[in-house]
Amino acid sequence: MRLQERLSMNGAIECPNCAGSERWYHRKHRFIRNAATAYGKDLEAAFVVYAVLSTNATVAENDKNFLRWCRGESPRHFGTVLARVKLATDGDLESALAFKTGRKIVSFRENLRWPWRKHGAVTIDRHAADVITLDRVMSKNWLARKGGYEKLEEIYRETRPVGWRPHEWQARVWVHHVYCNERKVSNG
Ligand SMILES: [Zn+2]
Repeated sequence: MRLQERLSMNGAIECPNCAGSERWYHRKHRFIRNAATAYGKDLEAAFVVYAVLSTNATVAENDKNFLRWCRGESPRHFGTVLARVKLATDGDLESALAFKTGRKIVSFRENLRWPWRKHGAVTIDRHAADVITLDRVMSKNWLARKGGYEKLEEIYRETRPVGWRPHEWQARVWVHHVYCNERKVSNG
């Protein structure tokens, strides 16, 4: 089966539990904006910090750590991630995003910051890659390969429903994969 077909047939559109999750980035944009405003944090730094903190974290952990940062506390994370948080806090957003973390953090920040963009980035993390490859090892290989990230992005762009932004389709698929498929597997 072609990779495009696997993604089209993953069941995210038909799943009643996941209806509306294509607005995930819009909702998270408001969450970040509201929290940053409430605590008087710089808005541009806040979006970068949220994206940087997403490394090896669930969404719940990401939210918690981001709120710690908003309150002036230290997020709980690896030293390399905390170093990037410090760069963003000090206003050096480019350096915070320029570390060797690959495209994912940059795309995630773009989707969170500008969710209304029509042709913006697609955030490819291991879940987003797994839905296409159906194989963890193959996902790792794709993400490690030169041009692999872009190829996976392209598959999301090609398979998105008419009228949807690429990252809206990716959000819907991601939510369905993480909250429906993986939960089913782990409960199974
Ligand atoms: Zn679902």
